[in-house]
Amino acid sequence: MSKIMKDTHVYIPCPACGKTERVKLKWAEKHKSLKCAKCKKSVDLRAAPSKDLIARTATALASFEKTLDTLHAEAKKFAKAIKPKNDKKNKKMSKSKKAAKKRPARTAARRAAVPALPPVDPASL
Ligand SMILES: [Zn+2]
Repeated sequence: MSKIMKDTHVYIPCPACGKTERVKLKWAEKHKSLKCAKCKKSVDLRAAPSKDLIARTATALASFEKTLDTLHAEAKKFAKAIKPKNDKKNKKMSKSKKAAKKRPARTAARRAAVPALPPVDPASL
């Protein structure tokens, strides 16, 4: 069961007082009646209009989940199409990172070599 399924509510009007009760779709599908919070009368969930509202909510949810699945499948397809490009990019990135690491090492070696020479110069003069 998806998270959407758990969080979907059905709005049931009380035939006695007109108050709209909000119940979870899963709960509504499992129960035959609902007790109105306002007038305490029992609302039949297996009769119209409650039955139709539950059925319509379930249908809307099913089509919504189908749409989500379609979008998810499409996204996966796009992800597969994009992946090889990303791999190339990552390889290029790692190469440039290695190059960037090598360059400072070389300059550091040069810098280390340069200070070694000046002390020789004053001695020879
Ligand atoms: Zn009521």
